[in-house]
Amino acid sequence: MSMFCYQCEQTAKGTGCTIHGVCGKSEDIASLQDTLLFGLKGIAAYAFHARELGARDEQVDAFMHEGLFSTITNVDFDLNRFVSLVLKCGEMNLRVMELLNNAHVDKFGKPTPVEVETGTKHGPGIVVTGHDLLDLYELLKQTEGKGINIYTHSEMLPAHGYPEFRKFKHLVGNYGGAWQEQKKEFDEFPGAMLATTNCVLIPKDSYRDRLFTVGITGVEGVKHIQGRNFAPLLEMVKKLPPLKEQPGKKITTGFHYTAVLGLADKIIAAVKAGKIRRFFLIGGCDGAKPGRNYYAQFAEMVPKDCVIITVACGKYRFNKLDFGSIDGIPRLIDVGQCNDAYSAVRIALALSKAFNCGVNELPLSFVLSWFEQKAVAILLTLFYLGVKGIRIGPTPPAFITSGVFGVLQQAFDLKLITTPEVDLKAILGK
Ligand code: SF4
Repeated sequence: MSMFCYQCEQTAKGTGCTIHGVCGKSEDIASLQDTLLFGLKGIAAYAFHARELGARDEQVDAFMHEGLFSTITNVDFDLNRFVSLVLKCGEMNLRVMELLNNAHVDKFGKPTPVEVETGTKHGPGIVVTGHDLLDLYELLKQTEGKGINIYTHSEMLPAHGYPEFRKFKHLVGNYGGAWQEQKKEFDEFPGAMLATTNCVLIPKDSYRDRLFTVGITGVEGVKHIQGRNFAPLLEMVKKLPPLKEQPGKKITTGFHYTAVLGLADKIIAAVKAGKIRRFFLIGGCDGAKPGRNYYAQFAEMVPKDCVIITVACGKYRFNKLDFGSIDGIPRLIDVGQCNDAYSAVRIALALSKAFNCGVNELPLSFVLSWFEQKAVAILLTLFYLGVKGIRIGPTPPAFITSGVFGVLQQAFDLKLITTPEVDLKAILGK
């Protein structure tokens, strides 16, 4: 990786930086600054969603300023201070995830598990991608009774779990998978599309005129919705051919931590009876690089007496498989989009309380795929909580130097994924 040094105004290439004799900044500090910047971007995403719902947190806002200020030119060369800032970033991310979770629950109710159709229904349709539930909610209100079916795409899937969304009968299902398939899927979707946040891709010409952006998103040449007035999108969908009736598999989502904690007695009994041997949190962003089928293979190889908790769009590689259940506890528990990682954290903390031990002593393993900035912020939250032995992949983030990775390995036993066989054997001990 080549790194631009804001101090020297030069680019360092490879592992041996030769330019910092000018400003004195080490490559490891540059790496921690980048980690902090990516973490702050993740926090900003959560804070933005929360603010749209009327929720703010002064401590988080103050940290945004402190963190960003710390990364500007010639202000801080103290490696230890950056290590603490990176961990504080994890703490603030936990805080802002809680803020957003509470704002969602206040506005849309507590999610509960729900089966979602993945086919299409006959009639005009709009598919909504991204993560912004408020955009989807406003669109549903404006399309109610107009004969238009609304589909969630990818990370919008968890909307189906919220009581306020379930009231809309024209929210008919989930279409498509993770973001890297978007161009193909949108190309094949005869209706219109709305992009609310990342991960929107530059569209093909074949559907550019049917794509709309709203809020934080923008694509040159694509119509942008102002003030959540979706009239132009409704006009467009009227001119488009109807979708065909096409059945699909059902997928289950909506395992908010409150719903999982409702199963706590059953879960504890099953663990004590030896019916549940281990929990695997297999989650994170998906991506297009080779090596990401590791996560699907891993999920498929998880023994039948283990439960998989999942979050974010990496799950689309395995969430249509039938994992069955153990004593009425589903073996695949989808807590939601990357904005719902808070639920996964709360489940882990609740398990540690129930079994009267630390998270690291639980029969729980984290196998995470990273891609974008919220994934970085979530990883920092897990470090802040002291979680050890996390496996990440498919490759280490390019902005992490071998020196910083070494520190993380030493402090948190952070590991890179290898193969599903080897990693499962290492975790299960046989
Ligand atoms: S989980 Fe990550 S990669 Fe997937 S849509 Fe959300 S932000 Fe993008």
